[in-house]
Amino acid sequence: MRIWGSEEVKRSLARRREIMLRDHLLGRGIRSGEVMRAMEEVPRESFIDEGLMDSAYDDNPLPIDEGQTISQPYIVAYMTEALQLQKTDRVLEIGTGSGYAAAVLSRIVTEVFSVERLGSLAESARRRLQSLGYDNVFIHEGDGTQGWAEHAPYDAIVVTAGAPHVPPTLLKQLAIGGRLVIPVGPIPEFQVLLRLRRLGGGEFRREELCGVRFVPLIGAEGW
Ligand code: SAH
Repeated sequence: MRIWGSEEVKRSLARRREIMLRDHLLGRGIRSGEVMRAMEEVPRESFIDEGLMDSAYDDNPLPIDEGQTISQPYIVAYMTEALQLQKTDRVLEIGTGSGYAAAVLSRIVTEVFSVERLGSLAESARRRLQSLGYDNVFIHEGDGTQGWAEHAPYDAIVVTAGAPHVPPTLLKQLAIGGRLVIPVGPIPEFQVLLRLRRLGGGEFRREELCGVRFVPLIGAEGW
């Protein structure tokens, strides 16, 4: 039987984390020092089932409860870099899931607000982040297509589920100069990752970044 926390397991996880950083992130073009540091610091193994421990740093998404997924490490790093964050930024994440991406964001900016529609995931992510000491992440259970008006506007918003179109409510909660990174696609299975920057009142610059695959964003302005 394997004893979680043993030196052997820790060494093996550290080796796998190194491979993730070198091959899957740096090797594929992640350049931000802050993003690399955050990805090095956050223990992905603490956000998955113990039975998946050997896969903690694999180059793919992994299942979490409720049929949802924790995103592929490269995608978390890529989206985080695409947000072009400053230390003092306040960030809104839609789709807390395991809380992993929120933890990564919390190493880079002052405050992270994260919304999850499934109560059980919101609750377990809240407990997990608290026990790991990520005390600048705030979680709200609700429909993230409606954002989180109470703390708006945000310097950056990241959506970690695939939307049929850009929810207008999220655009409204973006500060001037703020960035929204969101997967959008006409069918629930495939999306294009978009970055929208708010230039002025109702003026946005839109860029297509790459093709991605996320679980669907379900809600009033989602599927
Ligand atoms: N960022 C997560 C990955 C989440 S998977 C991580 O690092 O683990 C996408 C999540 O979005 C799922 O947990 C799903 O329940 C949630 N979701 C889907 N539609 C949503 C909505 N309208 N509002 C909030 N969360 C939503």
